[in-house]
Amino acid sequence: MLSIRVLFLLVAAVSGATTNDQPGHRGGHQHPGKSQAARCQALCSCLDAKFPQLVSYEGQATYISEQNYWSQQQANTKPVCRFTPTSAEDVSVAIKEIRDYGCPFAVKSGGHASFQGASNVDGGITIDLLKLSEINVSADRKITHTGTGNRWEDVYSKLDPMNLAVIGGRNGDIGVGGLPLGGGISFFSGFHGWACDNVQNYQVVLADGRIVNANQSSHPDLYFALRGGGNNFGVVTRMDLETFEQGLLWGGSTVYSLDKNSSLYDAFYWFNVNAKDDPNAALIVSAACIKAIGSCLFSNNYNYIEPEVNPPVFHNFTRVQNVTSTQRISNLLDFTNELKSTQPNGYRQAFFSITLLNDAQIMKDILNDIWYPAVQPLLKVEGFLGTLVFQVITEPIIEKFSKAGGNALGITAEQGPLMVLNMDFQWNSTTDDDQVLSIENTIIEKATALAKSRGLFHRYIYQNYAYITQDVFDGYGPQSKARLLKVQRDYDLKHVFVDLQPGYFKIRP
Ligand SMILES: Cc1cc2nc3c(=O)[nH]c(=O)nc-3n(C[C@H](O)[C@H](O)[C@H](O)COP(=O)(O)OP(=O)(O)OC[C@H]3O[C@@H](n4cnc5c(N)ncnc54)[C@H](O)[C@@H]3O)c2cc1C
Repeated sequence: MLSIRVLFLLVAAVSGATTNDQPGHRGGHQHPGKSQAARCQALCSCLDAKFPQLVSYEGQATYISEQNYWSQQQANTKPVCRFTPTSAEDVSVAIKEIRDYGCPFAVKSGGHASFQGASNVDGGITIDLLKLSEINVSADRKITHTGTGNRWEDVYSKLDPMNLAVIGGRNGDIGVGGLPLGGGISFFSGFHGWACDNVQNYQVVLADGRIVNANQSSHPDLYFALRGGGNNFGVVTRMDLETFEQGLLWGGSTVYSLDKNSSLYDAFYWFNVNAKDDPNAALIVSAACIKAIGSCLFSNNYNYIEPEVNPPVFHNFTRVQNVTSTQRISNLLDFTNELKSTQPNGYRQAFFSITLLNDAQIMKDILNDIWYPAVQPLLKVEGFLGTLVFQVITEPIIEKFSKAGGNALGITAEQGPLMVLNMDFQWNSTTDDDQVLSIENTIIEKATALAKSRGLFHRYIYQNYAYITQDVFDGYGPQSKARLLKVQRDYDLKHVFVDLQPGYFKIRP
């Protein structure tokens, strides 16, 4: 049965009524003067004719199953149609048609970006990469070629039995596409660096429909830009990931009462300072307040690249009395499944992030004086779960940022070690949006002001944890931003990926 929305779009297509036209792309080349709804409907019909079975509309089973996003805000966003290409060539055709029709688009890999419009678009077309599902390991076992429709769990399922691994998400449900384009923190990052520093080659569809390989020797500037530049430069259809031998690991989650914060933050500080001594270790220190249990706690993650139980690098943490722990020896897929099980789909979600210089006292003050009092009223909000997470950017990690020509994040060795502060608030209903977002925003403002007053603020904002109102690319610093803008001029002079793809963080002068 046709939904009301599809009926509306058909009427709009016939009448030429105007809705949300994109400045600069009004009418596209082939459809001057037509409304956005009419153009997008025509585009969907055009792709439907060229690619039978790959286009779906609201109300159809395929469309419904592909509207599978982590956050409610994204799942409730409704494109006119969804297109699921099976190859880079299909994506190329779609990008050229999208330009011609002037229809807004979004690109989805794993759908874990949380705010509305990040990888789905109201009234436009969403390119869902899920059928780009290639996973092939090179004969010498050094590279894994992976389509960007995969989730990390698909990749780990293939590599674990081969005793191989790559740098990817710690929750197996995250997409291969989004995580490295923003950076990518993995269990192995202390030793190997972030995911973006371990992509040897990106196959990418450009704004003019060309399909190119971006790596250190082919399109090196584009390669730089894709290592942190998000969705601004093209649609990446395949990533060739550096691959390494990996057996079992030690890892898991350990829960503490909130009053252990002083010891845990001291331990975090020293872990970051001493990271050079043992880069095999990875750490997530996460305070959480949860309505379902009516209280707050720490749930930390300790992971170690070797199957060594409780290695010395974690002793400052493991000597603190815990409530419960799942620390064990297992494989990568198991650890990523564990995190997936604690981070389910279907809630409203909002991430925010800032970066600070390494300091124990400021973590304690942000937790006790800013975050904890602010979240207390939210313990009455249905479905509320608020986390305050600190993660390290150690000196060994920063050294890897300059690997293979360097990434775009704009962090240099003399600035480290750093701490990424990430807040995620989860709740059930739109009726609580204003209260939750206002409190979260106030916490970030106060934490920022405190850090600035103590000389502990760093301009970097981790794209993968940022909220849409935060200026990620200013945070990369003037030099990196200028270089990204130059790459944009070279590869997307008409700003197809900025103006026609409205969602997510945009690089603008
Ligand atoms: C539960 C959870 C756990 C997380 N764990 C980690 C973690 O361990 N480490 C970490 O670093 N981050 C983590 N993140 C953050 C995560 O890396 C980002 O949200 C990331 O953008 C998600 O990628 P995705 O492909 O799943 O999302 P999507 O929403 O599909 O994509 C995110 C953005 O990237 C763009 N994009 C995706 N694929 C492509 C492509 N092929 N070409 C061009 N643009 C593309 C999309 O258009 C969108 O703007 C986590 C997030 C969540 C919600």
